[in-house]
Amino acid sequence: MKSLRKILPEDRFSIETEDIICYGYDASGIDVTPQAVVWPHDTTDVIKLARFAHENDYAIIPRGAGTGLTGGAVPTENSILLSFEKMNAIVDVDTENLNVMVEPGVVNGDLQKELDAKGYFYPPDPASLATCTIGGNVAENAGGPRALKYGVTRDYVMQLEAVLPDGTLFTTGVQTSKGVVGYDLTRLLVGSEGTLAIITKIRLKVLPKPESIITLLSAFPSLELAGKTVSRIIASGIIPRTLEIMDNMTLQAVNRYKNVGFPEDVEALLLIEADGNRRAIAQEAEKIFTICNEFQGKIKIAESEQSREYLWEARRVISPALYRLSPTKINEDIVVPISKVPELLSGLNKLSSRSGIPIACFGHAGDGNIHANIMTDRHNKENYQRASNLIKEIFELTLNLGGTISGEHGVGLTKARYIDMELDMTNLTLMRGIKKLFDPKNILNPGKIFPEDKKTVQR
Ligand SMILES: Cc1cc2nc3c(=O)[nH]c(=O)nc-3n(C[C@H](O)[C@H](O)[C@H](O)COP(=O)(O)OP(=O)(O)OC[C@H]3O[C@@H](n4cnc5c(N)ncnc54)[C@H](O)[C@@H]3O)c2cc1C
Repeated sequence: MKSLRKILPEDRFSIETEDIICYGYDASGIDVTPQAVVWPHDTTDVIKLARFAHENDYAIIPRGAGTGLTGGAVPTENSILLSFEKMNAIVDVDTENLNVMVEPGVVNGDLQKELDAKGYFYPPDPASLATCTIGGNVAENAGGPRALKYGVTRDYVMQLEAVLPDGTLFTTGVQTSKGVVGYDLTRLLVGSEGTLAIITKIRLKVLPKPESIITLLSAFPSLELAGKTVSRIIASGIIPRTLEIMDNMTLQAVNRYKNVGFPEDVEALLLIEADGNRRAIAQEAEKIFTICNEFQGKIKIAESEQSREYLWEARRVISPALYRLSPTKINEDIVVPISKVPELLSGLNKLSSRSGIPIACFGHAGDGNIHANIMTDRHNKENYQRASNLIKEIFELTLNLGGTISGEHGVGLTKARYIDMELDMTNLTLMRGIKKLFDPKNILNPGKIFPEDKKTVQR
């Protein structure tokens, strides 16, 4: 590894223990120390590093901020960790053509602030936006609360500059609003979890900010009634900007963590937003009030921008807040067709009662994406085994309802052993063939996504 100094200046890599141990983990809790960490300053550094790794048979692990929940950025042994924290420039904001060009290490929240000041916004808003990077968002096809109305990362990526594992540089996509020349390699790279190519520049679509936003909180006596409200709102033809759900365990955890003052004598909360022109959203809000009332939902409106922001801060701390309830949580981000949300929630409730393992539910209910958090303790063997057994049952429930086992967190290491519950042999063979074409030596983020590599998956 010392020969890295032949290709990069001393300040752009390290093999020192105190540096490399800081890059051995992500939010999945899995930890494997890499052999070296490299901080590229530009695309040329990435090309040099890829050629070096290719020639010397080292694995390359791209990393944004390490907020991924499925182990995507966790190193393998004999790997070089490629951290994009120094490639964090917003290269160009082109408001005439409604797009921006960024380097992969730009933090999502920093881009949001920059655009907000100019009267624009970039819709994908993962709850981790204060730290996660656009590169990580592209590699995971991240979503967020606003995905319900505005779609996910994939819907905003126009062009990518990327480096193949052998160091070949290429660009995909177009900078025009339309383009159908050849296969859509941009969409293929989005969500490829850093297994096909290293992304070095990203052109994203942006939108003008809506004229107005209404935010409201509705409290329900049962989770099922909240689920029915979600299905009814969508079936009535309204597409709110966000439609988030929190169960009682989740709202209590948030109250303890942040003292938000959520009512605790209710079983579920919905955090709903509508945006657009003032008159139109007033009408939408009226319809939403009526539907909430029909299902016994009690409503409170955020009266100011400050109280609106406060509610969203509370929403974004759910994940750390839940860790205060139990030391280990297994977070699954299942999705079902919207009309099946009530069935999914009652199915999860039954699984929890039967196993005696609490499952905290929250998430993007409006697009059918529920984060089911199995609350356990990895040091209590018996309890942890019972909790782990629930994963397969939750996936079976989800797939039987016509859903998918991951809406936004990807497969990474933690879901690799379950991928064939959803994908048949034809799909898996095609996908493995694509991986081989991009990465014949299997050096780019090896061990991620595919089931034959599941030996590394232990959580
Ligand atoms: C509290 C919390 C809340 C979250 N909320 C959401 C949410 O609402 N919606 C959501 O979708 N996700 C959410 N996540 C998951 C996570 O934040 C996202 O998956 C995010 O996109 C990861 O970004 P990152 O920069 O941290 O990437 P990392 O975790 O560092 O990496 C993720 C994957 O991207 C690859 N990668 C990173 N950079 C590159 C690159 N330049 N080229 C190629 N591959 C690359 C890595 O190899 C890895 O496979 C949440 C996580 C936490 C901890």
